[in-house]
Amino acid sequence: MTGATTATEQSDIRAKRGEPLVVLEGVNKHYGDLHVLKDINLTINRGEVVVILGPSGSGKSTLCRTINRLETIENGTIQIDGKELPAEGAGLAKLRADVGMVFQSFNLFAHKTILDNVTLGPIKVRKKSKGDAESRAMELLKRVGVDHQAKKFPAQLSGGQQQRVAIARSLAMEPKVMLFDEPTSALDPEMINEVLDVMAQLAKEGMTMIVVTHEMGFARRAADRVIFMADGEILEQAAPEEFFTNPKSDRAKDFLGKIL
Ligand code: ADP
Ligand code: MG
Repeated sequence: MTGATTATEQSDIRAKRGEPLVVLEGVNKHYGDLHVLKDINLTINRGEVVVILGPSGSGKSTLCRTINRLETIENGTIQIDGKELPAEGAGLAKLRADVGMVFQSFNLFAHKTILDNVTLGPIKVRKKSKGDAESRAMELLKRVGVDHQAKKFPAQLSGGQQQRVAIARSLAMEPKVMLFDEPTSALDPEMINEVLDVMAQLAKEGMTMIVVTHEMGFARRAADRVIFMADGEILEQAAPEEFFTNPKSDRAKDFLGKIL
């Protein structure tokens, strides 16, 4: 999946796109006594690819889930494209549709075909006609390399194929930003790259992405910015090269020492 533009040209394109798209201000969350998100301030610009790293339990998944209000927050604000996320109601459903999310477990509907998995949201939520939804779905399935599986059911596909369908299904909703929470952690090793390649291609095409992953190779090649979290706090933010060669905090040094 190589393209004509260089990494430098791509980052120039992104810089021009750079107005704020996802803005978190003073976001806090507790689970009982556990302060799981501590005063998170974070701005992600249009077209930016942000990789979130950090030890297990540091709040990465919770942060992703708050961004589309799968989790409530106690205070602070979350804006998507200039609009504050309401706590509930029809406005929430609409804004949430702007935020695609891909999880570790693929979460496809087991009793529906691959094609139906991808068309369901666009028909129900985006009110597209069946014909339009299906032709768009086939385009997306082709893009992620599983168009030949359209009539099959999820269980008939490999894990890597199912995760690529999950990505196509999210894209079918025309999200403004895509969240990926450890999308390759449940995959057999030989399937990891086929999913990362699809994500890298999306990144190159300018999709705004927030990616929680332990795949450092992906972080290095695709991220504009790495965010390091520990104990519910953002401890560091830097370009990947800077973060990997010159981590500042002891927590980050310790983390990288274990993972690299
Ligand atoms: P990460 O994704 O970085 O591993 P999580 O966001 O999943 O971290 O979890 C952060 C902390 O919050 C952990 O200590 C975890 O045990 C706790 N936690 C996560 N979800 C819940 C929940 N639904 N109820 C109680 N505690 C939770
Ligand atoms: Mg997690």
